[in-house]
Amino acid sequence: MLSVVHDRIAAACERAGRSPSDVKLVAVSKGQDAASVKDKVLSRGHVTLGENRAQELRDKRPLLPDEVEWHFVGNLQRNKIKYLGDVALIHSVNSVRLADAIDDWGAREGRVVPVLISVNVAGEDSKQGVNVEELAGLVVHARGLPHLELRGLMTMAPHGDDPELARPHFRYLRELAKLHDLPELSMGMSGDFEVAIEEGATIVRIGTALFETPQVQDDRL
Ligand SMILES: *Cc1c(COP(=O)(O)O)cnc(C)c1O
Repeated sequence: MLSVVHDRIAAACERAGRSPSDVKLVAVSKGQDAASVKDKVLSRGHVTLGENRAQELRDKRPLLPDEVEWHFVGNLQRNKIKYLGDVALIHSVNSVRLADAIDDWGAREGRVVPVLISVNVAGEDSKQGVNVEELAGLVVHARGLPHLELRGLMTMAPHGDDPELARPHFRYLRELAKLHDLPELSMGMSGDFEVAIEEGATIVRIGTALFETPQVQDDRL
């Protein structure tokens, strides 16, 4: 629920001595229909949404108000960039080829596209993102592209029951961003966003905790 997530973000910020206004919430609306997005998020005043499939973003956009700020958080295929429209931030640049394709698209659209580079901090095979060894090269390359604005880094921590296990990965991403003088850190999902905020996340991407209805057990019924 949005109010619960806001409270949890505020509490994590308080522990970390940070201001909640320094942490942007992206409501990951993948798999949710327009009615659910309106009911659970937009009607409560939150307009920043994230999708992880380009076609889903393309198809959902016309069903929702223009004021929505769209973020793309998933693995992006070059031939689908065109579906992203006026996307506010692409979180998931993971190769020179993709960076070049986004730059070409920006040139055609006459805009500079804000992006993050996704980093595979844990070195897991299954995760999307550049390996840490490839990051410096991609940062330099992206900075040389006139229709790309590189703002920061993104990661997905390995799944686990204990969010503390994600902490060293988030801390590592923060160090990498500092090394490259990049201000934005997109890290933290439903299972680990509080730890991510404590470690400096400037953007958290949350789906399940916003959209899934908790199972209320009420014995009086
Ligand atoms: C689905 C998704 C999220 C949100 O995950 P939840 O665990 O549902 O909060 C965040 N980031 C990316 C890249 C995703 O695909």
